[in-house]
Amino acid sequence: MSSIEQRKVSRTIDLPPIASEKLSDVGFFVREEIVKRGDTFTSVLGRLKIDNNELSRFLISSTAVKKKLKLKAGDSIRSIGDHNGAVTKITMLSRNGNVIDILLTDAGFIMAPAEFESRQLLGSGSIQSSLYRALDKNGISEKLGSEMAEILSSEIDFNRDIRSGDQFAILYSANYLDNVYISSGQIQALEFINDGETHRAYLFKDPKNNRSGYYTEDGQNIKNTFLRSPLKFSRITSGFSKRRLHPVLKKWRSHKGVDYGATTGTPIMASGKGIIRYLGTKGAYGRFIEIRHSNGISTRYAHLSKYAKKLKKGSKVDQGQIIGYVGKSGLATGPHLHYEFLVNGSQVDPSKAVMPPGPPISKDLINDFRLQVIAAKLLLAKQDFIAGK
Ligand SMILES: [Zn+2]
Repeated sequence: MSSIEQRKVSRTIDLPPIASEKLSDVGFFVREEIVKRGDTFTSVLGRLKIDNNELSRFLISSTAVKKKLKLKAGDSIRSIGDHNGAVTKITMLSRNGNVIDILLTDAGFIMAPAEFESRQLLGSGSIQSSLYRALDKNGISEKLGSEMAEILSSEIDFNRDIRSGDQFAILYSANYLDNVYISSGQIQALEFINDGETHRAYLFKDPKNNRSGYYTEDGQNIKNTFLRSPLKFSRITSGFSKRRLHPVLKKWRSHKGVDYGATTGTPIMASGKGIIRYLGTKGAYGRFIEIRHSNGISTRYAHLSKYAKKLKKGSKVDQGQIIGYVGKSGLATGPHLHYEFLVNGSQVDPSKAVMPPGPPISKDLINDFRLQVIAAKLLLAKQDFIAGK
């Protein structure tokens, strides 16, 4: 953790802006074009005002380019030129995050994977009307905002708990290429003051297994061993209840699960780590998965349209791993996920069950973690929480 800078841009997607900017401090030109449907290298080079036969020939006839580069609408091509305006480098940024450079060398143009430079950035803001407006106003991408919401999801319900006056600060890594921002990386630390209460989370990577997680200041796992919902974005269409009129059977029955409305094909995540105990069709449940977790807990997922590939009875799954997709198989009026949470074999209301927290930072690593926390806190303290900033 060394350099830190404050950054103000407006960005909602993680692609760089379409811009022709002069980077006077480094003395070259950067031009950028987004690939449109039906574009060819020739048409994009034309829009970039590049008239370079050697480069055109390389892009059109090189077998390496043919194999590795397929232009797709939404990709972007950036050209970098020297003081005289001659192109020295072309950078291809694909929408899926791949970045490839085409460089001018003594041996002519060559293709090489681009190397990013990682920087640390600090973003902060205060909420007046909505979180997304506050993110936008302070130049923080929606992607980072939803990652923040995901990290704090066991402490704050971002759909319901956000108040005007709430404040946040996010310390994150970002990828730069030729001094130009490309994409955000992981959130390293964050602070969120919700309704007067301060929540903090710090990223820590276990050097032994390279697994990372978010922890409170004293090393407690911020995540529960179970997700609040097995779907990323969802709404509960039918809660857990003792009695309800069954929509298909038209009979009064108890509903020993939670229904989440979602479109067919929405990915379903294992809500906790465990072993698949059942995967197959099961009567009214339709396509069905049951996972056995530790401490006598099981979870059930019903009415699936399909299962995730390679999963079978006995497979180990991690929390958040995609196990299948929403559908309406079995006894269902429309596509939804029927989710059950069982403790010692009986269904309980998952919204009322006490979810055990994930494992804390182990004793042998706690000092390393504390040092990281001190460094991150110093950086987070650089934000100035001024309402309306
Ligand atoms: Zn149901």
